[in-house]
Amino acid sequence: MSTAVKDTIRFDDQVAIVTGAGTGLGRAHALGLAARGARVVVNDLGVARDGTGSSLSPAEEVAADIKASGGQAIAHGADVTDEAAVTDMFAEAMSAWGRVDILINNAGILRDKTFAKMTTDDFRSVVDVHLMGTVTCTKAAWDIMREQNYGRVVLTSSSSGLYGNFGQSNYGAAKAAMIGLMNVLHLEGAKYNIRVNTLAPTAATRMTEELMPEEMLAVLKPETITPGVLYLVSQDAPSRCILAAGAGCFARTMVYETPGIYLGGDDNTPEAVAAQFDQISAPSGQEALQNAFAQTEAFAARAAKAQGLKLPPRQ
Ligand code: NAD
Repeated sequence: MSTAVKDTIRFDDQVAIVTGAGTGLGRAHALGLAARGARVVVNDLGVARDGTGSSLSPAEEVAADIKASGGQAIAHGADVTDEAAVTDMFAEAMSAWGRVDILINNAGILRDKTFAKMTTDDFRSVVDVHLMGTVTCTKAAWDIMREQNYGRVVLTSSSSGLYGNFGQSNYGAAKAAMIGLMNVLHLEGAKYNIRVNTLAPTAATRMTEELMPEEMLAVLKPETITPGVLYLVSQDAPSRCILAAGAGCFARTMVYETPGIYLGGDDNTPEAVAAQFDQISAPSGQEALQNAFAQTEAFAARAAKAQGLKLPPRQ
């Protein structure tokens, strides 16, 4: 029996832009947002899985589906890496609806090969779409969201970036970059009520259809992930959260740092690091640090204490 409270998360009067929403996960997110009242810009360049070609039809079809269900939608074929096209997309949203509350960066391509066989062009193309496409769209949203004092941004990562996947050095690097971008945008957006989160999905789409048996694909439907994304862009969303999602399963991915050790004076040698590597790696007491300086301060304080020094309070 379901214990879920239904339909309390709504997006009435809100405007959302979903990139790569002509198919797969983006399509499910766009339909999910529209079903709960959002006006949606359905962005898609309509490319093949490797990023070649282009067509407005996928975006138009999803926008037509939303309108057929009584919602409001605009189809836009911007290439997320093309600053002029992205500026035009945001201008169209602003002129039609006057605000942008939600940005879901979802557009993506694959060019899988082992690192030994990969050209730097294939590496760059994948980084361009995933990382620079996300940067370009988020940059276009940023001033609008700061001005409104409201914004919800989702970046799309992958287990490939979090944990590694053979043959995906370009994709893994670009997807891991989402975490760094989220961490900083979370800090810079906080005072403007902009919350930034990352989705790490696993779904049956054209990106994955050749990798798994039919039975597995059947449970990994994109729409089982969308409820997690809707929470990440809701009014009461968390911020700086990595939400792993697939097949109706939701989990949180965290980065922890072990307490580690201090090696001072003559003990500060590579041999001592090697000898104590198990202790350096020991997870007991590990912590999720809230910003970069938390680590610097902790290390400096520990060394100063061991050396009998007093550090001045932080400015
Ligand atoms: P998909 O190929 O079905 O959808 C990607 C969409 O992005 C396509 O419609 C494509 O036309 C669009 N697109 C590509 N380049 C674009 C560009 N430059 N500008 C605008 N649109 C562009 O793939 P999907 O599986 O739905 O993936 C969606 C996102 O989720 C991607 O970022 C992907 O890396 C990520 N992801 C997917 C999985 C999975 O299991 N499917 C796992 C981890 C991460």
